Amino acid sequence: MNNTQQICFTPLDHHHMAQARRLAMRSLRNNEVPVGAVIIAADGTIIGTGYNRIEKKQSQLEHAEMQAIRKAVKVIGGWRLDQCTLYVTLEPCMMCLGALLLSRVKTIIYGAPSHLFGISILNPQLPPVYRAHTIIHQGLQQDECSDMLKNFFVRIRSNKEASSEQQCSIHQQNERELA
Ligand SMILES: [Zn+2]
Repeated sequence: MNNTQQICFTPLDHHHMAQARRLAMRSLRNNEVPVGAVIIAADGTIIGTGYNRIEKKQSQLEHAEMQAIRKAVKVIGGWRLDQCTLYVTLEPCMMCLGALLLSRVKTIIYGAPSHLFGISILNPQLPPVYRAHTIIHQGLQQDECSDMLKNFFVRIRSNKEASSEQQCSIHQQNERELA
């Protein structure tokens, strides 16, 4: 994306991404894909927070960024977030990027890239109106954010394998009993 840049991040950027990672841990505790987001106003205060809870709420609208936007516009009392920066642990999806760009968020800073759902795949296709206001920086605490996601999926896979092995042994036991 033309407006996606890699920069040297400040200690404050790291601080805010650490806050987003702590929010992602809440998703993790609920067995949800760990994604967290914070929105920071021009004066440095946090005006929006969110963490992935689509399973809990059974709604795709419950992505971390969407919750953070909802809270931020309530605090500001308007839909324009043009003085705000969003920190999110995972590259935003199409829905969240659309909402962020239409909210005119000044800056988006994300941690881990998302090769499946990330905004990069949309780069060339985004119409100019979506690209006019927002600068996107990638890779802040990328390793920490990626590791959190990788560990989650490893755990999910091993749980699934354990449960299918258990199912298999129950099935074998049933077969023995029927024989
Ligand atoms: Zn999203």
